[in-house]
Amino acid sequence: PKILRLILGDQLNRQHSWFRQKNDKVLYVLMEVRQETDYVNHHIQKVIGFFLAMRNFAQWLESQGHHVLYLTLDHPDNQQCLDKNLSRIIKENHIDLFEYQLPDEYRLDEQLSIFSAHSSTQVRVYDTEHFLCSREFLGEFFKGKKTYLMESFYREMRKKYDILMDGREPLTGKWNYDHDNRNKLKDPLLLKPAKTFRRDVTDLVELLRAQGVATIGDIQEENFEWPVTREEGLQVLDYFCSKLLPYFGMYQDAMFTGDAFLFHSRLSFLLNSKLLAPLEVVEKVEKYWLENQDAVDIAQVEGFIRQIIGWREYMRGVYWAKMPAYAEMNFFGHKRKLPQYFWTGDTKMNCLQHAIGQSLGKSYAHHIQRLMVTGNFMLLAGIHPDEVDAWYLGIYIDAIEWVEITNTRGMSQFADGGIVGTKPYVSSANYIDKMSDYCSGCFYNKQKKTGEKACPFNSLYWHFYHRHEDKLTKNPRIGMMYRTWAKMKDKEEILKQADYYLENIESL
Ligand code: FAD
Ligand code: SF4
Repeated sequence: PKILRLILGDQLNRQHSWFRQKNDKVLYVLMEVRQETDYVNHHIQKVIGFFLAMRNFAQWLESQGHHVLYLTLDHPDNQQCLDKNLSRIIKENHIDLFEYQLPDEYRLDEQLSIFSAHSSTQVRVYDTEHFLCSREFLGEFFKGKKTYLMESFYREMRKKYDILMDGREPLTGKWNYDHDNRNKLKDPLLLKPAKTFRRDVTDLVELLRAQGVATIGDIQEENFEWPVTREEGLQVLDYFCSKLLPYFGMYQDAMFTGDAFLFHSRLSFLLNSKLLAPLEVVEKVEKYWLENQDAVDIAQVEGFIRQIIGWREYMRGVYWAKMPAYAEMNFFGHKRKLPQYFWTGDTKMNCLQHAIGQSLGKSYAHHIQRLMVTGNFMLLAGIHPDEVDAWYLGIYIDAIEWVEITNTRGMSQFADGGIVGTKPYVSSANYIDKMSDYCSGCFYNKQKKTGEKACPFNSLYWHFYHRHEDKLTKNPRIGMMYRTWAKMKDKEEILKQADYYLENIESL
């Protein structure tokens, strides 16, 4: 039989068993399509990153002797839609067997299942061989539970894959070192430059312009800096181990105006496009630590490994356990539109100006910027979760729905009513000031709740709790907040200040 094997843009896994043997009857197909560039308005660096990674992957396949059909965005035969292109290629190449790997997004999973059901060609579906557990594992693990406790899932993964373990017990006697990981960056001299690559992408920028693809953000002088091949990915991983890992956990929550990346790994795009595998990343980090215990302590290593075999796998499990209903959830009934400055960075709030400006410029913000600056503000301001999702799904180079929506609707917006988190992540200026140098350079006064130049976070924080009292008061982790609020004397002024800010949200 003649076989067509489809490779999606986020399935660039060289280690997949498909590629172990050459087979002249197999045609590998990759395609750049408007369906994918247009389902949300993406950052220009994100589109270019995926196209470059796909093009490099296709070249690698050819260099290994495989047959490849690559449709560029401007290819005359490109019908810009996955199924239309597939139908044509199947027909023209007399394909009798269509094979694909399980997509990670619900949207594509549905599309390919429907296509397969209507196709007269035989179909076979494969695992991506990327994740540590099946799509269904987490749903079964937490069967019957309302809240899915990440920590218990994470411990299960540690045991299952024997990572930082001594038999059934954690190697160093403790499962989690999160409490050691909460520092503000006091010494900028510790910072290291990010491992970047230089690539002139003028041709791709022109391709997108010529085809009229709408994008957000920008790219400096057509110079693309992200890693897009497996070799580059391995270099970024090595650099992370030797230069950044020693401080990773310690400054994981820190934010700093002078540096977008701090000690973060910048591995999310490499992982989500499957250029690197999660297990190889954590095994490499564990090995590096074992061989360099004088330079790296366990708190840094455990903190990093938890993000990958804990949070990342967990989010994927929640996604498959709860989709498609998850995408509709709006626990607080929030309705507001996202202010314009989310696309320009043009706001007087210094923390937002930096987090948004950096996202537009680099297609990247680290976790605490996403959670405690932009996400925090959106939740306090009552932005509709659909608006929140569209922004996050578009702007970040690592944004693919399975990991974006669970972080956005779940962890950040509590729109799932508490499946992912046990309470909403909100804060006043106090937390932002504790973890960053933003407030000292801000137009607003971090200490004031009301009056001229009062920091918007301070009144919006109480407004949020006040307006959702019926939904949150029974939450055992929040009760304290309501007792504090009840005792506060200037409640009326604070609520009035917040209302004023909400009415004038575009001019903050
Ligand atoms: P590091 O800080 O170096 O962490 C290492 C790795 O751990 C990351 O590469 C990532 O693979 C994994 N990881 C860490 N935290 C999480 C998490 N909460 N969920 C899943 N994996 C995690 N991550 C995405 O990959 N895609 C997204 O679209 C995305 N959207 C987010 C939206 C919001 C509102 C929030 C709060 C978080 C989001 N995250 C997302 C999680 C996290 O912020 C990014 O994975 C991280 O900032 C990527 O940078 P890094 O590779 O330098 O991460
Ligand atoms: Fe942000 Fe308020 Fe601090 Fe300004 S004062 S940086 S708005 S938290």
